[in-house]
Amino acid sequence: MTIFNLGSINADLFYALPHMPSPGETIAAASLERGLGGKGANMSVAAARAASRVVHMGAVGANGGWAVERLLEYGVDTRHIVQVEADTGHAIILVDQAGENTIIIHHGANHAIPEDLLGRALSESETGDTLLFQNETLLQPEAAAMARKLGMRVAYAAAPFDAEAARALLPLTDLLVLNEIEMEQLKSASGQDLREMAVPTVIVTEGAAGGRLHRVETGWEAERFSSPEVKAVDTTGAGDTFTGYLVAGLDRGMPLRQAVALASQAAALMVTRHGTADVIPDLRDVQDARF
Ligand code: ADP
Repeated sequence: MTIFNLGSINADLFYALPHMPSPGETIAAASLERGLGGKGANMSVAAARAASRVVHMGAVGANGGWAVERLLEYGVDTRHIVQVEADTGHAIILVDQAGENTIIIHHGANHAIPEDLLGRALSESETGDTLLFQNETLLQPEAAAMARKLGMRVAYAAAPFDAEAARALLPLTDLLVLNEIEMEQLKSASGQDLREMAVPTVIVTEGAAGGRLHRVETGWEAERFSSPEVKAVDTTGAGDTFTGYLVAGLDRGMPLRQAVALASQAAALMVTRHGTADVIPDLRDVQDARF
């Protein structure tokens, strides 16, 4: 089967600084590192590394060819990534000596994905394929409506939190994945509990504590899962790795609990590594990991 991911593609620019700049201050960075990032790209890479077929639907600017090349290198189908008249999305990540982050995001091309791309890409889908999206692009409601008509499974990683997007998308969602902070934000913004949200499967991640799943069959009763104990060095991309592996496991026919266990192992291994998309572990590394 295939996963069609409507998602952001970012250049993550990490500037190492002696301290965070104050308003009006100019400081020189000790170093600059550039990596592939964006929740969309991260999830595409994770699902591809988990051995699924992944078609990424997205956009970059004229300066984004390297990001597309890198996705291709990681096994993602990039035929439906287009070049648009905007800057490639990027995140400027200021890191001080204590390791504290301050981040500026520019959506750029991620908010300029042309709508006709969706129909072209999704016309290649088959019943039972998966549509995945997050909150870093536009056009999710249009994509979800198409996917529903085509008999696809709709998976929504509701991050970063966006109350308005969630309101429009939850009724079209089969599988919702979010961390516990986003779950609390969602509950308070919507005033709804899980039963009222009526999404058939909801997975709430809780960092080192693993998380819980809720499904319609059991009246959304919480079922806990754990994550392997590891020495975390960088938790960036943990949730994206988790979701990519989870969706890949389900796409390959795994029962939910087995896919969640695989996703937890992949995400736990991810937090032992520095970086984002470029260091997402592949299936062999996850299977060989001794936790
Ligand atoms: P997000 O990155 O979206 O905030 P979480 O922090 O909840 O998401 O992490 C997602 C998943 O990654 C967790 O459910 C868990 O499986 C794994 N994970 C995250 N942090 C750790 C950690 N310190 N040790 C082990 N597993 C972790």
